[in-house]
Amino acid sequence: MDSHHLSLSFVILAAGLAGLLVGSFLNVVVYRIPRGLSVSGPRSFCPTCNRQLTWWENVPVVSWVALRGRCRTCHQLISIRYPLVELGTGAAFALVTWGWDGTIVSAAYCVLAATMVAVSLIEYDGKRAPLSVAAIGTGIALVIIFVGAGRQGHWWLVGGSVIGAAVGLVAVSLLRARDPECLDPREFGRSTLVVAGCWFGGLGLRPTAFGAVTWVVVYFLCMLGVWTTRQRTAASGGVIATGRSAVPLLNVPLVSALALAMPVALIARG
Ligand SMILES: [Zn+2]
Repeated sequence: MDSHHLSLSFVILAAGLAGLLVGSFLNVVVYRIPRGLSVSGPRSFCPTCNRQLTWWENVPVVSWVALRGRCRTCHQLISIRYPLVELGTGAAFALVTWGWDGTIVSAAYCVLAATMVAVSLIEYDGKRAPLSVAAIGTGIALVIIFVGAGRQGHWWLVGGSVIGAAVGLVAVSLLRARDPECLDPREFGRSTLVVAGCWFGGLGLRPTAFGAVTWVVVYFLCMLGVWTTRQRTAASGGVIATGRSAVPLLNVPLVSALALAMPVALIARG
């Protein structure tokens, strides 16, 4: 293994670990945003006994395993969803970083993946994700893409991402203007379109075409009643993760299959 591969491996590992921590933060975001609570404080607490958690009860995945999925004091079961979200986000960060060769741009796609997880899960829970969540995440990603890709003169990537995000934003706004009350459950999942637009806009034709085909298939499965709306929302979170990897042949199927694993696991739990 030469030094390039070695350093890339370290970057992928670091991204995966960062993803575990970000996943832990996303659990907080997904719980607090729909309830109108601040995401910056107070520290995490048990929703059953309201006790504030110590730092060692907050370590991603490890704490859940060590506590055997129960609160230390009230022994209430802690959903397996928490460690699954952490693992899924960690895996997504590692995959995306691998796909983008550990460049600055990979950080932008990590932000997009995290945003997609947050929006998908809020809406999977049957709440409407504020457009600000998608907008803030996509905005941060666009700044990173501008810096990372622009520095290397990859302006097609910058332009494609901006246009894609703008198309997504217009689509969401139009759909929301049509039914502003948003009591229609079919509305759920729409704000993921902003993130999706940015993501696919920067990827070029082939991944975009594959993503679009997958999306249509999922959509028709829902139309036929094979999948419910909530399942479609979760699946669309996976579809967006259709990225590019270092191996062209494995490119789309591998990344999308792995990215779909998390929402499918959530669906299986119901
Ligand atoms: Zn408790």
